[in-house]
Amino acid sequence: MATKAQVAVPAPLFDLPAQNGPLEAELKDAFERVLHSSQFILGDEVEQFEARMAEILEVNHAIGVSSGTDALLLALMTLRIGPGDEVLCPAFTFFATAGSIARTGATPVFCDVCPVCFNLNPHDAESRITKKTKAILPVHLFGQAAAMGPLLDLARAHDLHVIEDCAQALGSTYHDKQVGTFGDFAAHSFFPTKNLGGFGDGGLLVTNDDVLAAEARARRVHGARGKNHHEYIGGNFRLDALQAALLNVKIPHLATHLAHRSAAAEGYATVLGAGMALETDPGPCCKSTAFFGLEPTVPMLPVESPGRGHTWNLYTLRVAAAQREALVERLCQDNIQAGVYYPEPLHRQPCLKNDVLTLPVAEHLARQVISLPLSTDETLPARVRLCLMEAVGVT
Ligand SMILES: *Cc1c(COP(=O)(O)O)cnc(C)c1O
Repeated sequence: MATKAQVAVPAPLFDLPAQNGPLEAELKDAFERVLHSSQFILGDEVEQFEARMAEILEVNHAIGVSSGTDALLLALMTLRIGPGDEVLCPAFTFFATAGSIARTGATPVFCDVCPVCFNLNPHDAESRITKKTKAILPVHLFGQAAAMGPLLDLARAHDLHVIEDCAQALGSTYHDKQVGTFGDFAAHSFFPTKNLGGFGDGGLLVTNDDVLAAEARARRVHGARGKNHHEYIGGNFRLDALQAALLNVKIPHLATHLAHRSAAAEGYATVLGAGMALETDPGPCCKSTAFFGLEPTVPMLPVESPGRGHTWNLYTLRVAAAQREALVERLCQDNIQAGVYYPEPLHRQPCLKNDVLTLPVAEHLARQVISLPLSTDETLPARVRLCLMEAVGVT
């Protein structure tokens, strides 16, 4: 009798059924509660959610909004960023970071990033400050904080607002302080694959400033303070009660979820970092605009830079650009789903294109990065190791 060919256990980049399946009964209860309440927009569920998130994130004000993108837009609108203004942001990030700036009529000014932590390089940012610069918008990419110390120094020296894009970094820390507590505002996202993954779109705007919080709350509902009295131009940036109720079910499980991801990242570091010719020490982080080793001769594991508490929303390696496709394919053959975040830097996107701008680190990273699944399956690192050996030829 013919034996069935062995099919490798699938390793999806994000395993949502594994995350949400065990909570099914509680989620259904939450759904029924909202259904029977007929309170579908804002209300008690949203207020409860905001209060719990403010506590977890160690901020005075948490404002539930329609998405992470809208949280960014609402922050920029509330800070009165608009036409004629420039906002510094990294070129290597998700589109929404710069798209939100452009939607206010301001100009996103793209800066290069650090080849070690992948975040906004403070030295490059400083070199792009002009009289029109109004704000700086660092992103805590893949779950690792940007260099907030030097970036805040810059902001103070040049009187700039700071808006943190925490969409991938809920729970991450910088010198033991939660990200999102450093700037005037911070934006969080509950897109299903983020650290606190929702069931549709949702976001949160946080701040410690009472005046800014009150204005942002008004702008969330078309700038209204009191019914039919509109003080500002705002939008419909509200969070659904159903989304808040479902997220309230997930909040108690957040710490465990992040601990699992962290353990899985350590599993890779142990199995891939030991006895294999990989680069595990890429040098100093965020130090200068000088870049080094732009094309890695061997794959580079991601690092947690000193003082930054990584939450591993994405576990991202750098490989030689010419080898990335082969590695993606080899992983796919073994049922391991890899992802590329992000294949095109923002200054090369059609709608934001700047042909004269060269940002070497961002451009190289876009061709080199590959993100791997983080799984509680302890056999995964060894499978990835085999793929690396075969596709990239490391021993
Ligand atoms: C996901 C994400 C956003 C946008 O969040 P949405 O909730 O999808 O609108 C913004 N910035 C970064 C870096 C992101 O990863």
